[in-house]
Order: sequence, then structure tokens, then C-alpha cells
Amino acid sequence: MVNHVATSPYDKLPIGVYTCDEEGYVTSCNESVIALWGRRPEPGAEKWSGAWKIFDEDHRLLSPDEYPVAIVVREKKIIPNAGYIIEQPDGKKRDVLISCIPTFDDFGQFTGTINTLLDITEQKASEARQSMMASIIESSDDAIIGRTLDSIITSWNHTAEILFGYSEAEALGRHINLIIPPDKLEEEKLIISKISRGEKIEHFETYRINRDGRQIPISLTVSPIKDAKGAIIGASKIARDITRQKMAEDLIRNYASSLAAEVAERTESLSKTIEALELARTELDEALTNEKQLGQLKSRFVSMASHEFRTPLSAIKLSSSLVEKYAGTYDTANVNKHVGKIKNAVSNLTNILNDFLSLEKLEAGKIETDMAGFDLVKFAEEVRDEMQLVARAGQQIVYQHTGETGFAVLDRNLLHNCIINLLSNAIKYSPEGSMIELDTEVTESQYFITVRDHGIGIPKDEQKHLFEAFFRANNTGTIEGTGLGLNIVSRYTTLMSGQITFESKTGKGTHFTLAFPASP
Ligand code: ATP
Ligand code: MG
Repeated sequence: MVNHVATSPYDKLPIGVYTCDEEGYVTSCNESVIALWGRRPEPGAEKWSGAWKIFDEDHRLLSPDEYPVAIVVREKKIIPNAGYIIEQPDGKKRDVLISCIPTFDDFGQFTGTINTLLDITEQKASEARQSMMASIIESSDDAIIGRTLDSIITSWNHTAEILFGYSEAEALGRHINLIIPPDKLEEEKLIISKISRGEKIEHFETYRINRDGRQIPISLTVSPIKDAKGAIIGASKIARDITRQKMAEDLIRNYASSLAAEVAERTESLSKTIEALELARTELDEALTNEKQLGQLKSRFVSMASHEFRTPLSAIKLSSSLVEKYAGTYDTANVNKHVGKIKNAVSNLTNILNDFLSLEKLEAGKIETDMAGFDLVKFAEEVRDEMQLVARAGQQIVYQHTGETGFAVLDRNLLHNCIINLLSNAIKYSPEGSMIELDTEVTESQYFITVRDHGIGIPKDEQKHLFEAFFRANNTGTIEGTGLGLNIVSRYTTLMSGQITFESKTGKGTHFTLAFPASP
């Protein structure tokens, strides 16, 4: 054992060198090994190594008897280039290759060891980087291809194999034209000229062909590959398969154009519908105008006819009265009989014409109520007297009033027309010699007018049509009438805010009641 560590004659060597004696104590070491250990060993006191800690390649901390020098001292055998990791006192780690050689004297006696340490930290790191790069390239979803400037393929990853259908072994060493469609060869020249100038090409959309000759749409990114000195020696190509993207684009384009077609079609059918609608509207307008004109024509005719009829009718009436008067001494009984018939016919005709006129005015909305206060009792008595004159033989119209007052506010003319109509029905549809009752009642809130007869009545199943214009029940037989009277009565009653109700039994009789709200 020596108790000093000599400086080594190998101080200046770039690899670490140290020696140990036959017991394994470090006897000398050069500067390189001291730099590797990160410390200077204590003279004569350190066995096997000056390293702070030593790990094997699997990062397991070694015990001193596992140190390479310990093994060589034990076994007297060479350990060539074994990989270890040395940890320095400050925690830094270095990868090293350690070689230990046993030394012997002339008598073959073991004298110690000579040991070298080669620092391979940088080499290892770059190996790790390279294998990581390789695995990234290999696992990329993009086809990554390396090529020289004269277009020879130098690398070909897994995705390139799948995309283009050539294995790595098949592709390496081949010309890049292997995957370039003939019509894109010019484009390839352009790419190379750009790359040679150190430029990069990014996301360039083009086509390549695969082994089956199918064209594949790709997005291409090409970057120059430089050597350690920065000279461009090739290019790396990253080709992304954009088949799906292209398909999606096509799909969207097709969809958009079919949508546009559909919109155009719909628009056309819509405009056709609008045209048809407009046509229909015009036709309808025309029809309405025609209808209106027809209505106006009809109402003008009715009023003209009614007025024109009235004049000759009053002339007939007047003349028959004169005939009656001048008949004097002649067969007055017969003259009177026929004059009476003429008068009757004239008054029937006048009634019909009046009904027509009323109806026409009602239809045209020309009737306006003229509400005014009057003595209902006096009014009813007058109407009763008037109608008594035209009653059938033996018919008696009996009038009765209920209520403290007879004052009412109504339209006299309309009411007159209503009562005349009701009474004339009662007269027409009940037998000679029967009694007809006319009742009025004035309460605080309402006026009532009732006409009751004991005549033929109205069949139950026909009653629902009673107020329709031109309706006549089938039990009227030869009794004349137009079926307009009740229609006018009910409309006049409504105009005066009143209501008409009735009750009737065939063979027993009928009564109609008009009820009006009393004006405040
Ligand atoms: P006009 O227009 O000349 O009055 P009309 O008497 O036939 O003709 P409305 O007064 O409208 O017409 O009556 C309609 C129908 O109702 C009558 O044809 C008749 O069948 C029935 N009717 C009306 N009042 C009575 C009544 N008091 N008794 C029996 N039937 C009646
Ligand atoms: Mg009538």
C-alpha cells in the first residue's frame, strides 16, 4: 500500500487513466479521470476507485466489492470496456466505459491494475435523441421520407409503407419518382430547386401515386436536411394523406350544389304557386265584382219595378172607387161586389210590393231605426181598427193592455209593419168567426206585444224554418202569401234590439210575442 496518489504520466491524455496497487489502492491518476470523478482521491486511502458513487448501466448502485478494480484484483482478469455510470459529489452523472487490466512483474507476481475511463455521456445522449427521433418518425401518422438532393430515397417510415404500398426495404435506394405521377415531375423539380436554396415548403397540396397506381391527394411539407457543417444534403418530406379531407370537401361541395338546386326548384314551385294564387284571386275578384253588379242590378230592378207598379195600382184603386161612386142607380150590389174584389186584389198586390221593398232595403242595409216615444195603447188601438176592416167574416180582433203606462220608445213605422204582418197572418190562418187577440204590456224594463189566434197552427217539424225568407208551411193550402212577412218582422225586431218568440200547435192556434228592452 502506498500512501500517496502520484500524478500520472498520462495527465494530458483525453481519457481518464489511473492505477491501483495489488491491494486495489489508487496509486496514480491523471487530470482527465479527476475531472470525470469530480474529485481528487485522498492519497493512499481510497480503494478501487476515486469515484463518489458507481452505478451499473441499469442505474443500480454498486457496492465497493462490485467495482471493476475489485473484481480484477480478485480474479486477475481483464475487464474490457464495461459500461458504468459515475456520480460526482455535486450529483452530476457521467456515462463511462471502464477498462481494467491486471499488471504482473517479471516473476508473474500480480502487482496491481491499470484502468481507463472513457467519457461517453455525449454519445449516449445523442444515441438516445436519435432513437427517440427514430421512434417519433416511425410512429408518425404522416408519411416521412428522407431523400438526397439527387432524389434517392434514404429513409421511409411505417406510414409511408402503408400509404404508398412499398416496404422500407423496397423503397430505400430507389428514385423518388417511384411515387410521383408523370404529370407532377415538373413540380418535383421546382420543389428541389427551392430546397437547394434552403427554403421550406409547407402544406402544399398535390397528388402522389401508390403501388397500385392510385392517385392519393396529399398535403406536402418539405424541409432541407443539412449536414454538421450546414450544407444541404437532402430533403425530408412529410406527406399527409388528405383523401378523407378531400372527400369531405367534395361531399360539402356536392351537398351545397344540390342544396342550391333544391332551393332553385322550391323557389320556382313557390313562384308558380304564387302565380296560381294571384290568378285565383283575380278570378275571385272578377266573380265578386260580377256578383256585386248583379246584386245592384237586382235591387235596382226590384225598387224600380215596385215603384212602377205602385202608380198604376193606385190609379186602378182610384178608378174603382170612382166606378163605385158613379155606378149610382145601377145594379149596385153586383158593381159593389166586383169593385170590392178589385180593391182586395190591389191591396194584396200593394202588400207584396211593400214586402219586396222592405226586404230590398234590409238587404242593402238602408233601414235605419228612428226610435221615439209614443203612446203604445193608442197606437195598438189604431192598428187593431185598421186590421179589423180587413178581417174575415165574423173575426173579432180583441185588444188588451197591461201596465200602469202605455208609453214606449220604439220605431213606430217598423213596429206598425210588424204588428200588421202578425195580425194579417192571424187573420189569414184562422177560420171565419174566430177570435184574434192583440195584447200589449209595458213594464219598467220591457215592452211586450203578443198576437194570438186559434187557427191552423204551424207543423212542429217545419217551425225551425219559420223566419227564413220565402218559407211557407205545407198546411197553408190555397191561402196566398209569399213567405216574406215573418222574415221582415224578425229583422225589424232585431233592428229595434228586440226578440221574437212563438208557440204554435197545428189545429189549435199560434201566438207570437215581440219583446223589446225599455229605453231608460
Ligand atoms: P206574406 O209574405 O204575404 O206574409 P206568408 O204569410 O205566407 O206570406 P209569413 O208571414 O212569412 O209568410 O209566414 C210564413 C209562413 O208561416 C206562412 O206561410 C205560414 O205557413 C206560417 N204562418 C205564419 N203565421 C201563421 C199563423 N198565425 N198561423 C199559422 N201559420 C202561420
Ligand atoms: Mg204573412
